[in-house]
Amino acid sequence: MSPSRVPRQDAAGTRAVQISVELLGVSNEMVADVRAAVAGIGVEPAAVRLTATHTHSGPSTTNVYCGCVDCGWITLNQKPESTTREQGKDDIAAYTAWVTPLLIQAAVDALEALQPAALSHGVTTCDVAVNRRNNVEAEVEKMAETDPNFWSQKAALNGPFDHDVELLVARAEGSGAVLGVAFGYACHATVMGAQSLHGDWPGRAMSSVEAKHPEVVALHINGCSGDQNPLPRRTIPLLEKYGDEHGRRFLTTCQWPCCLTLYDLTSCSLALQVRR
Ligand SMILES: [Zn+2]
Repeated sequence: MSPSRVPRQDAAGTRAVQISVELLGVSNEMVADVRAAVAGIGVEPAAVRLTATHTHSGPSTTNVYCGCVDCGWITLNQKPESTTREQGKDDIAAYTAWVTPLLIQAAVDALEALQPAALSHGVTTCDVAVNRRNNVEAEVEKMAETDPNFWSQKAALNGPFDHDVELLVARAEGSGAVLGVAFGYACHATVMGAQSLHGDWPGRAMSSVEAKHPEVVALHINGCSGDQNPLPRRTIPLLEKYGDEHGRRFLTTCQWPCCLTLYDLTSCSLALQVRR
């Protein structure tokens, strides 16, 4: 579990907090609890955003369903093949009660570490995401078996696609050093599903950036990812490849912003931290 938090304060003193956590999802109740707690330290509830990476290989929390019975709760049930969600709900409730205060503390800690920063926004692309409504995975795999150029050309895949990777880059005022990068990409975190415990491609993307640049915090902000799956999938090497490719693109974008459009947004005070 890796909640990353980004408190931000603009020139007028208005504060906002973004918390990203590697979970299957967060319920309205969790969001309300976090917002209520953070409101006590000077952040309006509407200015607190809590997002999950939606990794299917991460824990479930109470009142979070993905629509399938086997995703997201492997960590709470060591024998998922013989345990139903109903049987596991006490474990899920206990986990939810444990993790929620950590999210609140993450925001509290970050608000105590604000520093001057500048934000800019940019867009890059990645073509891993495949429209899951208009492409049947089993049929795609069959086509790929008989066509060695299938994945390099992807001509037989049906759209529409959204391949934009949105980036928000934070730099220290003065030095211009990159403090962090937040990113959003509309791709379901289902390279592995419930076959293992993993942050899936978003977790790998964040950790690959932070492994190369420990001074930089990477933050995944999940968007409308449900209509696109990462294909091909179901192997750890593919998961690592997708995550590392995202990380590489972020770092390239941050280091050579002339490669794509980066718009300066505003100056603010910012703190980026990671808790594991
Ligand atoms: Zn899902």
